[in-house]
Amino acid sequence: MANRILIVEDEIDLSRTLEYSLNKDGYDTICAATGKEALVHALREPHPDLILLDLMLPDMSGLEVCRQIRSNSANFNPSILILTAKGEEIDRVVGFELGADDYVVKPFSIRELKLRIGAILKRSKGDGSAKPAEENAIPINRTTQSIVIAGEEISLTSLEFRILDALTANPGQFMSRDELLKQVWGEKSGVRSRTVDVHVNRLREKLGTANQLIETRRNVGYRFNQPKTDF
Ligand code: CA
Repeated sequence: MANRILIVEDEIDLSRTLEYSLNKDGYDTICAATGKEALVHALREPHPDLILLDLMLPDMSGLEVCRQIRSNSANFNPSILILTAKGEEIDRVVGFELGADDYVVKPFSIRELKLRIGAILKRSKGDGSAKPAEENAIPINRTTQSIVIAGEEISLTSLEFRILDALTANPGQFMSRDELLKQVWGEKSGVRSRTVDVHVNRLREKLGTANQLIETRRNVGYRFNQPKTDF
């Protein structure tokens, strides 16, 4: 099935250009020009696989849209790629903290954007370089990007999933924030280590009673501990 992309952008020319170009590449698209419309389309089935989210919308901030989607995403887990204007550096960091997967700065080339989209969707569909599930100590479902803890399925954002992936690849070994940052966000992301902490903390919260699986050591970093009991 074709991937479904929700384009949230109030610059109609840009929105149309994106729609045309993405359709040509075989994506299904839906367009929204306001935050309100974006939320309606994001929360309605069939949910989008990925959301291109402009930050400056006429009725609300894209960050608020991002926050609301993430807080409603118990049953679906779209990837979110933020479109920012130059100089919105601070928003960009906040965007990651709110659960965005990536960002591009305007003006961007459509080609570059499509490469990013392709990469995000590939990661979120789980055909990345990570180890197969059976080598991991907790049941990880790559298709739905979720884990099962105490019989309960917990869905993760692409970022949380990649963090977990990175940590479970070397159980028992500490990874520094910088290593984790490089591996999960990439070499030139411009993301600060504080953002790593925010996402690891959110992941730990989601693990609930199993949060001891991820251990934090001050000035060292994070590690994944093999569970002593079955989850
Ligand atoms: Ca705008």
